Amino acid sequence: MPTPHQRQQEILDFLEKRGNCSIQELSELLSVSAMTIHRDLDKLTGDGAVIKVHGGAMLRPVARAANFKSMCSMCRQSVRGQLVFSLQFNDEKEKEACCPHCGLMMLNMQNPILMLATDFLSGNKINALQAAYLVQPDLKTCCSPSVLSFSAREDAQRFQQGFGGALMSFSETRGFLSDSHALPDTI
Ligand SMILES: [Zn+2]
Ligand SMILES: [Zn+2]
Repeated sequence: MPTPHQRQQEILDFLEKRGNCSIQELSELLSVSAMTIHRDLDKLTGDGAVIKVHGGAMLRPVARAANFKSMCSMCRQSVRGQLVFSLQFNDEKEKEACCPHCGLMMLNMQNPILMLATDFLSGNKINALQAAYLVQPDLKTCCSPSVLSFSAREDAQRFQQGFGGALMSFSETRGFLSDSHALPDTI
């Protein structure tokens, strides 16, 4: 029997895939009563993660909610400035990941037109394709294995001297993460 928290996570995952869904669908999917789904949605609405719509719910659009604490589209942890990785899409939608780890994992499911990583030292946005990545340094971040991004390879190298880890390009990091996680095939 999943805990309410696990169930709410499943609802978020489902909404993430579908954009919206009805209470009936959710109650069938999770084999709980519509009443329970209502309560879960109330909780998620209170957290600012979803909006209840007639007979169902949709994910709250991040861009339109000014006060909404940004949440990683992949793991749902809150997004911290130093590591944020954002993906931008054709339709002007933007998704944020808590760190390059989650950002690169999202690429297995999504196809953005532009990706921005954050320079770990300055906090400036950088082109994710050209960034240098330090993978699995001896430094705990939100996700494991941790991945830091830098605008300059020399900065990443200097950081590597102190914290270890492997220096990788965008595609090497992406390959490393795909290999280290047995991901189900996604559409
Ligand atoms: Zn994340
Ligand atoms: Zn993360």
